[in-house]
Amino acid sequence: MKSITGSVVRDQLVYMLGFGFLMGIIFPFFTLWLLKLPAVQVLTPLYFSMCVLAGLVVGLCNYFIFRGVVYRFLSRLSAKMGVFQAKLESYRSDPSSADKCRVEDCYVDTTSADILGTISGEFNNLIASVANFIEVERTTDSFLDKLKRSLKLEDVAGVVLQAFSEYFGGQGGFLLILERGEFRLVKAQSVDIKKEQIEDSFWLQLLRQDKPLIVSGIEGDAIHLHIGIGQLDPRHIALIPLKYQNEDVGVCGLISREPFKRDFASLEARNFIVQATPFIYNALIMKRLEVMAAIDELTGVLNRRFGLRRLNEEFERSKRYRMPLSVAMVDIDHFKKINDTYGHQAGDFVLKTLAGVFTSNIRVSDLVIRFGGEEFLLVFNGASAVDAYQIMEKLRVNVETMRLQYGAFDFKVTFSAGVASFPSDKVSDLPNLIHQADSGLYKAKETGRNRTVISA
Ligand code: GH3
Ligand code: MG
Ligand code: MG
Repeated sequence: MKSITGSVVRDQLVYMLGFGFLMGIIFPFFTLWLLKLPAVQVLTPLYFSMCVLAGLVVGLCNYFIFRGVVYRFLSRLSAKMGVFQAKLESYRSDPSSADKCRVEDCYVDTTSADILGTISGEFNNLIASVANFIEVERTTDSFLDKLKRSLKLEDVAGVVLQAFSEYFGGQGGFLLILERGEFRLVKAQSVDIKKEQIEDSFWLQLLRQDKPLIVSGIEGDAIHLHIGIGQLDPRHIALIPLKYQNEDVGVCGLISREPFKRDFASLEARNFIVQATPFIYNALIMKRLEVMAAIDELTGVLNRRFGLRRLNEEFERSKRYRMPLSVAMVDIDHFKKINDTYGHQAGDFVLKTLAGVFTSNIRVSDLVIRFGGEEFLLVFNGASAVDAYQIMEKLRVNVETMRLQYGAFDFKVTFSAGVASFPSDKVSDLPNLIHQADSGLYKAKETGRNRTVISA
């Protein structure tokens, strides 16, 4: 309908009064025709005036009723829009402190079965989707912010699990990382996964399919997903493959008692997942670089540079807490001859074998360092010179009695070791300690090899 006054409400008033006026004019002719009243009574100015007045009154009443009903609804709708607008503004200026849209604040409660009800419903839907959009943006922002803070794989895994649980819903989860064809558990929250329960082929297949797998309606403890679930008694499990630029990264699992809040296949959910993978990937690369920087490639023990840094830390700690610290310098006997007789590769094999013997026979707090070509430095925390001597003798006898087989060759190998300890009269600093161990080794070589000598 064409606007007359430039205002819908005023137009309404004009139309209703106009209609009332028109009815007032027409009404007398109706009465003539229908009620058959005498024309002398009807066709008088007074009768016409009364009818027009009645029409105008009805029109005016209609107008006020319209205002009372529709206007009230529209004002409520406008107030809710105002509240939402204010919340949106406060979110834009400071996303962290803006409060969420509660039902009573932002949503309209009209349930009328007509266009007003439809408008209410549409308005509420609109608010819900904007609120959801904001919520996702807020979760993503805080999630990305936390992810940026650490490059440690364990930290990143914790943040990813937390964010996924918040976003999709769920009370716990786990993160498996694919490393050299094997899956390794990096983090588990409220889920108990044992190493032997991680069946690589299952997870690999999941990564190949590149689609989240959702298992719902799980009864009691009937879970056959090669994972042991803890106390939560979940009914729903989601397994999300994680890839970065077509490279397999790992799998994130979520468990929940209630159905998950979101559709894993939606674009929004996929975007959310995709945001996490580069961080996991970077943390993995970082870890690999760290390992590469610290580990001797041939033997798998600490390299000299990193090993000495660790030894320095241990030495400082030993000084501070007055705890004994011992080192043993180890050199393989007649190693040149092994290389010359059986070949350089057999020599490498001996180095790897001995490194394996050392690492598997010391405590986790102790260190094995490849100090030079065929020299190892062993570090024993909290051990006196006598303790270290005993450990070295055990290792020496162990090696002495071992038969090494490389290809067609079958041979034996021995080593000599020099032990030095701190605190000791001869040792004031770390270079001193290493020097003393070296002179012990020299004496061991001089006095016939295949033995351990304490020098300090
Ligand atoms: P000694 O009993 O006096 O220690 O005699 P040795 O033959 O072991 O003499 P030395 O300790 O001087 O020998 C070092 C040899 O170790 C020389 C070098 O060829 C060999 N070597 C050093 N690094 C490696 C390596 O990475 N692999 C192999 N196969 N040999 C190595
Ligand atoms: Mg040597
Ligand atoms: Mg040697």
